[in-house]
Amino acid sequence: MVVECAWILYVTRKLQLLGTISYDECVSSVVNFYGDIYMIDATKVIAFISENKDIFETIYNILYDIAADTNQGLLTKEEINGEKVIDPTDIQGQARQNQVSDVLKQMAKEKSNYHCILEESEDCAEHYFTSKAENQNYVEVHHFIPREFASEFEHTIEILDNYITLCPCCHRKIHHAIDRERKHMILEIYNQRKDLLEQDGIYIPNKQKLFQFYKFDQTAE
Ligand SMILES: [Zn+2]
Ligand SMILES: [Zn+2]
Repeated sequence: MVVECAWILYVTRKLQLLGTISYDECVSSVVNFYGDIYMIDATKVIAFISENKDIFETIYNILYDIAADTNQGLLTKEEINGEKVIDPTDIQGQARQNQVSDVLKQMAKEKSNYHCILEESEDCAEHYFTSKAENQNYVEVHHFIPREFASEFEHTIEILDNYITLCPCCHRKIHHAIDRERKHMILEIYNQRKDLLEQDGIYIPNKQKLFQFYKFDQTAE
């Protein structure tokens, strides 16, 4: 499984480096890359691909649509607002969701001016360091309502108010600390974002629900 994922990544990356190529060029490149790693019978692989041409064509289209979109730069905020309904259950929807997510992450960082949302309560500022890539405080972006619970909401949770910036320490802590040590962090973010999320149509019914999202052992307050 891991090997297969690595192989797919390897081939995808090699294809990206080639830029936009035709379907036939794409097929022969995949066969070549495949042959770099495994002993294969190229004729059999090509036969398999042509028997399943509709599937491989779909993959080809998705691959190069994405590349074309990426080349146009980041989506604008207006475009994102038009993206309320993304079906992440198909591969194209997932790619779209990731694109939207990348923009929202960037917007969240800019909006926070590269500060941790818990800066005051956790005294994060003394630990900031400057990101080489961004020349700003190094911050990470966290989904306040985790994506795995998206289906519990009528409205999409892929919105700016659900994206929060945390310093790396707070980010690790909110995911990995024992409940007693992270509860106040979750409540602090909840207090800061509750009204905004409600304006977006996202209602967290009670704090117990919130603690469920964070997989607390006991959800009682
Ligand atoms: Zn996170
Ligand atoms: Zn922090």
